Amino acid sequence: MYQQLRTTALATPRAAAMFAHVEDAAPETLAELLAAAGSGSRSRPGCVPSCSRRSRSPCVPTPTVPAPPATPDKAAGGAQHVAALWAALEERYLNGRYDGTGRPDSLRHVPGPRPVLLTAPHAVTHIRDGARKPADMTTGGLAETLAELTGCIALTCDGTPTRDPNYDPDGPFKSRLDTLLPGTTAVLDLHGMQDTWGPDVCLARGLHPAGSADLLEVCRRELTASGFTVSVGDPYDANTPHTVTSYCQRAGVPAVELELARRIRNPWDQPETSARLLAALQNALIAAGG
Ligand SMILES: [Zn+2]
Repeated sequence: MYQQLRTTALATPRAAAMFAHVEDAAPETLAELLAAAGSGSRSRPGCVPSCSRRSRSPCVPTPTVPAPPATPDKAAGGAQHVAALWAALEERYLNGRYDGTGRPDSLRHVPGPRPVLLTAPHAVTHIRDGARKPADMTTGGLAETLAELTGCIALTCDGTPTRDPNYDPDGPFKSRLDTLLPGTTAVLDLHGMQDTWGPDVCLARGLHPAGSADLLEVCRRELTASGFTVSVGDPYDANTPHTVTSYCQRAGVPAVELELARRIRNPWDQPETSARLLAALQNALIAAGG
């Protein structure tokens, strides 16, 4: 199953390049990692139930990131293909049972020509108030997959953050945001919530939601049209100063936090649902990018 998914995913040049780092890994290690994050989903570590609380510092304008050629989504070729791509791109994060492949505080930046930013600050295990918090699994691979399919930009953590990007007022992730936000037209901050909260997706509005109403509505409309249940501001609203959403809004960039139930972000066991989520978010990103 894994080899099949991998072969399919390697059809895209970016995925092939990213896969290079696991080519030499022992098969049993790969199998173990995939077992931890794949079909044994009920035994996997849980996602962080809350991702919000406070923020500060203004952003410093910097040159925009050079854009490579766009990667259109049209030829994605069905649910199995895009789910396989998502599963493949998740490998960077699930290494070491979600300690990631980077050193502590390592960030992964995927540039793109479309000025919409996807963030996954909890893609790997992170530190909050001195305690390790489990990753929002598959959000790193989701951000990268959407970037691959739409040409948007992705920023994720691929090494354990020593400062929680969605909780602490500063740190490497927010410093990188400062360089990326000028010229960015919208930010979707991707997180994971437990299924028991109820909705498939919770849209969290942030502390300064006035300028983000249109973006939120686009997300709500596309997700609902694709058959997902969506709540707004319940159980999460990202309405503390240091959330990524509040931070971006304060810099003048529309932003929304998406809390995704675990059942809709499992590209290994639920490829059709995963593909449906990707399609809905692709539409939202394209609409948001103008
Ligand atoms: Zn989170």
